Amino acid sequence: MIPTSAETHDIPLEEFRAQAHKLADWIARYLEDPARYPVLPPLVPGATRDKLPPAPPQQGESLETILADFEQTILPGLTHWNHPGFMAYFANSATAPGILAEFLMAALNVNGMLWRTSPAATELEGVVTDWLRQLLGLTPGWFGMVNDLASTSTLYALAAAREADESLNVRRLGLAGRDLPRMRVYCSEWAHNSIDKAAMTLGLGSENVVRVKADAEFRMRPDLLEAAIAADRAAGYKPIAIVATVGTTSMTSVDPVPAIADIAQREQLWLHVDGAYGGVAGAVPELRHLLDGVDRADSFVVNPHKWLFTPMDCSVFFVRKPAVLKRAFSLMAAYLETAEQDVVVNYMDYGYQLGRRFRSLKLWMVLRAFGAEGIATRIRHHCALASEFAGWVREAPNWEVAAPHPFSTICFRHVLPGEGVEATNARNARILDRVNESGDIFISHTMLGPVYVIRVALGNLGTEERHIRRAWELLQQGALAG
Ligand SMILES: *Cc1c(COP(=O)(O)O)cnc(C)c1O
Repeated sequence: MIPTSAETHDIPLEEFRAQAHKLADWIARYLEDPARYPVLPPLVPGATRDKLPPAPPQQGESLETILADFEQTILPGLTHWNHPGFMAYFANSATAPGILAEFLMAALNVNGMLWRTSPAATELEGVVTDWLRQLLGLTPGWFGMVNDLASTSTLYALAAAREADESLNVRRLGLAGRDLPRMRVYCSEWAHNSIDKAAMTLGLGSENVVRVKADAEFRMRPDLLEAAIAADRAAGYKPIAIVATVGTTSMTSVDPVPAIADIAQREQLWLHVDGAYGGVAGAVPELRHLLDGVDRADSFVVNPHKWLFTPMDCSVFFVRKPAVLKRAFSLMAAYLETAEQDVVVNYMDYGYQLGRRFRSLKLWMVLRAFGAEGIATRIRHHCALASEFAGWVREAPNWEVAAPHPFSTICFRHVLPGEGVEATNARNARILDRVNESGDIFISHTMLGPVYVIRVALGNLGTEERHIRRAWELLQQGALAG
């Protein structure tokens, strides 16, 4: 029997329309007050899975039923990143313009693998990444692309670094069974582990990521970087890249990029700058100096999904020599050839992805909706809240700020006279647990060497002074509880 169109098409669009209107109201209500929900759900492994049927339905269900189940079954198990009390990891915000863009992106189902598969998507990506470049005060001459994550962008940077020396020819011959020197990548001991993952993925090996010691303020020491490169060259290794960080993940320290750029230039090494979180500070005139030297790098990554109000995911990768990146990844198939390929950008040539989401649309909508001034005001506000919070910590007896805080993230701890490191660490972990049990505030921690510190990261647009006051109150109560 031939199926009817009702059986072979999408669900009725009347149903879509009705549910989309309801969902718009639901989302607006959610965004008005995400704090109606606890920021952290009860952390019971399996709690959501146990509420779900183990097998898919035989017959289709109505959107109304599905969305009701979403609210009853899925929502209670979510951590609310949009909650103003979210101060863990790097707090971020999915803002209304970005959410609307995601709605459109899904509806249009754009796949920007080639210019021709969505000319406007490709061209918008070029324009909007150049807007971001200007917003961050970077010089012209950067090629920008939008990736999912900083992890991907850094992988691309190291792939390009490996390709920059054509004599290695890893692209064609691979790494195994050849007489190749060990290739080395240098970064600070505080750099993000996406560099190690990239080295593992690219076959460079995690042991060939050389972690250079930092100074007392957690910044890579250029003298030790130079020494490490010299020692490796003497041992017959082949240095290929340096990764400097503007805003390390643990304590947001800023490596001395100008001094590192001098070394990269002298040693002819690819310099990649990881500004996944901190790079956005370039949009604030009085913070722009934190990006000094970035213009001398070969590549740079910044994540609008971290501190530029763009919903997950959106990472912008800038590269000075797109031809090298293209050499690393471009691969033609007969069915992908187009007449215009020599005069347009086909983004599939600049990474391992063929299909590509239309992420530039949401960045475009976010940048337009807030504007350069609106963005600067919001970032400045987070930094001011962070300074205020750090001031309370500094002034309170038995509390100490554990690292400089150039952005909006503060590392600190509670210390009691005469207490050993282990005991202090354990006590601070208990303080953190108590805060997180409140449901009002979610904070995470990091280790500064042997020292456990509590880490408050401010980056949600809903976060106001009353939220940081509440966090501070809960922290002090937690400390009193012992
Ligand atoms: C968060 C972070 C990353 C990883 O970001 P993803 O987009 O999740 O891959 C890389 N580097 C730094 C410095 C970060 O803070």
